[in-house]
Amino acid sequence: MTTRTDYCGRLTDADIGRTVTVCGWVSKRREHGEHLAFVDLRDRTGIIQCVVDHAHDIRNEYVLSVTGTIRARPAETINSELPTGSVEIGDASVEILSRAEPPPFQIDGRVEVDETIRIRHRYLDLRNSRMQRNLRSRSAINASIRRAMDAQEFVEVETPMLIASTPEGARDFVVPSRLSPGNFYALPQSPQLFKQLCMVGGIDRYYQIARCMRDEDLRADRQFEFSQLDMEMSFADGETVREVISQAVSEAAETITGERPGPIPEISWLEAMNKYGSDKPDIRFGLELVDLTAIFSETDFNAFKAPCIKGLKVEGGSDLGRNQLDQLTDKAKNWGAKGLVWVKVGEAGEVTSPVAKFMSESEIAYMLSELEAEEGDICFLVADDWKRAVHVLGLLRLELGRPPVNEGGFHFVWVVDFPLFEEVDDQGNPTPAHHPFTMPHEDDLAMLSASSDAQDLLKVRSQAYDLVLNGWELGSGSVRIHQREIQQQIFNLLGIGEEESQVKFGFLMDAFRYGAPPHAGFAFGIDRLAALLVGEENIREVIAFPKSQSGTDPLTEAPTSIDEAQLEELGLKVIPETL
Ligand code: ASP
Repeated sequence: MTTRTDYCGRLTDADIGRTVTVCGWVSKRREHGEHLAFVDLRDRTGIIQCVVDHAHDIRNEYVLSVTGTIRARPAETINSELPTGSVEIGDASVEILSRAEPPPFQIDGRVEVDETIRIRHRYLDLRNSRMQRNLRSRSAINASIRRAMDAQEFVEVETPMLIASTPEGARDFVVPSRLSPGNFYALPQSPQLFKQLCMVGGIDRYYQIARCMRDEDLRADRQFEFSQLDMEMSFADGETVREVISQAVSEAAETITGERPGPIPEISWLEAMNKYGSDKPDIRFGLELVDLTAIFSETDFNAFKAPCIKGLKVEGGSDLGRNQLDQLTDKAKNWGAKGLVWVKVGEAGEVTSPVAKFMSESEIAYMLSELEAEEGDICFLVADDWKRAVHVLGLLRLELGRPPVNEGGFHFVWVVDFPLFEEVDDQGNPTPAHHPFTMPHEDDLAMLSASSDAQDLLKVRSQAYDLVLNGWELGSGSVRIHQREIQQQIFNLLGIGEEESQVKFGFLMDAFRYGAPPHAGFAFGIDRLAALLVGEENIREVIAFPKSQSGTDPLTEAPTSIDEAQLEELGLKVIPETL
């Protein structure tokens, strides 16, 4: 094989007259009369047209080495859409390095290919320019993150994959132990406990691009296994951690867009919920929620006799038709609302609404002024408990205003002061909003010890923070508990008794006996960051070998059964599924 001298996509007018050898796959071939053929050769950089004597024996996706001289294309054949469109390789001699059967789909074809087929033949799908661009961008993102972390004196430490369970709120993937039959390793949901142990071990600034496994339902932004930039630092508060991470994501964004984002704004969890109805606010657009509870405090309208009334206004939205409004109302009901009230604003504050007659003139006037609604606008109102009202209007806001993933720029936002607990479970125990190692807000520590009512506990704030980009949660972190007593208190509140916590987290509690520095950290998903930065709606587009939506791998057909001998060695028996 003649040695490659050049990449296909990099040849330009400046190369005219040079003899080159390029290697790649046949993207297209066209016979031109008896003895002339055009072959478009593709490699990772792009495509070059080669003019060969005849191409009878050449098919799409054959692997060729082509040697010839670069020349200008005749004016009428210049292809301005191709970076190499003004040149071609003339008098090319061709060496066939590998033959190919007709592929199941056209690489870089114009028709959309079913995703399962793409994943099943990922080695072909990877040849297309979209996947090439995405994986290269992802690699550049990883490199930029490492650069940023190295520059801030973080040490890359690899933590183990076969571990005891680390709770992050998902199910574990488990691995049976051959040497200890009946026992199982868990694959890490995150390196959380190990990075905390690194802090006790004096590493001071740890990071890792860590693979994490969580057995939970797959979605567009979720796979069983994913990569996180995971970090932890000692003697640092949340603000310092956020600064470090801001550097890393800014570096990554700059690498892809060429522009460094400005300082990342912060918003409290409560404000995010009140304004955007979400703890992962998409701040690329307005449509903010407005509180109208006080305005309707004296209402006679039964549907408005609720603890909370929230509204939002859509400018110029009064031309929404009855059908669209009915559809939105159905959606709101699916999201949990009892109903959705709409009010159209006409001339001189005249309103049209199915419930107009239940509102007093002054209520209407106040409502319009609070929402700053004018002629041609439409207002939507939801009355419910606070949680549901903001949730439903938050979803409606996205429905009505959310731009496509690749529009509106990149708007990072820090959400701070999350509650410590999310909800109360069936046993009456609160569940952690982040994970059980998160430090409560200092001002709320007293409330934590005094309170015995689980509902009250929901008011305790934590020192946890999230990073959000264009409405996607990129990652979470927190200041950690580094005192045994507080950690045990939290375990107790979560319903994890002393014995259980000793079995599950004894090693952490033991480590805390020997001088644990105060520490804080964070982790963000690289798949999500990469998808957003390259403008993809689905993280599978930035993953070389993803699982399909159903959690299987159409390429290798994993998960598969294992044979009897292997089962026996592992001390396992499969119980056949009963119907
Ligand atoms: N371990 C957490 C997670 O994976 C991140 C952190 O708290 O640092 O979400």
